[in-house]
Amino acid sequence: MPQSLPFRSRLATTAGQMAAAASRKLGRGRGQVVGGRIMLRLDPALLHRLAAPMRVTVVSATNGKSTTTRLIAQALRSIGSVAHNATGANMGAGLVTALADNPAARFAALEVDEAHLPDVVRQTGADQLVLLNLTRDQLDRGSEVRLLAERWRQLAADLGPETQVVANADDPVVAWAAQAAPNTLWVGCGQRWTADSALCPACGAPLARAGGRWVCPSCGMARPETSWSVLPDADQIATPDGSVRLRLALPGRFNAGNAAIALAAVCSRGVPKEAALQAFAQVSDVDGRYVQTLAGDHKVRLLLGKNPASWAEMMFLVADSDALLVTVLNARGADGRDPSWIWDVDFEDWAGRPVWVAGERRFDMAVRLETAGLEVIGVSQDPLAALDQAQPNQSLDIVANYTAFQQLRAELVPS
Ligand SMILES: [Zn+2]
Repeated sequence: MPQSLPFRSRLATTAGQMAAAASRKLGRGRGQVVGGRIMLRLDPALLHRLAAPMRVTVVSATNGKSTTTRLIAQALRSIGSVAHNATGANMGAGLVTALADNPAARFAALEVDEAHLPDVVRQTGADQLVLLNLTRDQLDRGSEVRLLAERWRQLAADLGPETQVVANADDPVVAWAAQAAPNTLWVGCGQRWTADSALCPACGAPLARAGGRWVCPSCGMARPETSWSVLPDADQIATPDGSVRLRLALPGRFNAGNAAIALAAVCSRGVPKEAALQAFAQVSDVDGRYVQTLAGDHKVRLLLGKNPASWAEMMFLVADSDALLVTVLNARGADGRDPSWIWDVDFEDWAGRPVWVAGERRFDMAVRLETAGLEVIGVSQDPLAALDQAQPNQSLDIVANYTAFQQLRAELVPS
């Protein structure tokens, strides 16, 4: 621990780390949140103090923030040590724990909850903000897209030119917020989910879209020109000095978009492009997401679909796979207790696809998928009951929402 920290901060850090270790020993989870809460109780300025000597990048979005932060952290490690909240604990307590675990780090790469972003930027003095997308989350969770966008825009307007905003030009809501910042690097990450940005964020008129661009016919606000962008075949990224080929181990077009913005961010920090691409290629799962594991003779791939936009992306991802598709839906606190958001996903696009339906709210999902024309071939509380119906050696693609995913990861992935 740096001796430069006041005694109170060192005491707070030690006490929090001891509590986190005790919590892990008792099998009560990974302990970051409980440890971090104790640290902040004993020294409310600890996040600020720990972050002060670091160059801090914060990443926020409704979807993709864990993956993008992971890619950024991996690439920054090629030029210096990095503090990173790798387990996705993305509010004050989780952030302070990540910094306390690596207090001499040169860089911090922090995934930050959308609603907490302004506060975290002020406390950490972050000099790089990576903003990906804002879409609706579950119905009874979080703030409305519009409210968050206004908070982000106010934050951006308060920044000085020494703070770089790296923003996705393809999300009109993000573009509207980031436009207010004095120093913005625009990246085209793509955006397949447009249901939450049908209207102009500046004036409310319907946006016109063509060829991946968007423009407001009423006030003229339009997609900013980009210097970095994911190209249509998704494994190429255009950069200011020529295009480069991605070699991602992570699947899906949305992850190519995440990699494009991560690349722009780390190159701005001084990471050579080739070193960044090499680092990205080493990331094959993000806290258990996309992980391939075995259940009996069957390969199982675990995918997280936590809200309408991410569920739609996972459906695109598994569309061409001949794996047995299993959906798992719970509706506990962290999932949002009202699961009717599943009606916002256009499952109709996958009509005819066989699917096994599991989880505590399996009947809600079965009705939704039957209505959309998918072929529900089985229903069970336990998703692994689908294994009995799988062909010998057939793989399983399991798309699960938040608590169902956590449960499955604990069962299937040795920690
Ligand atoms: Zn407009």
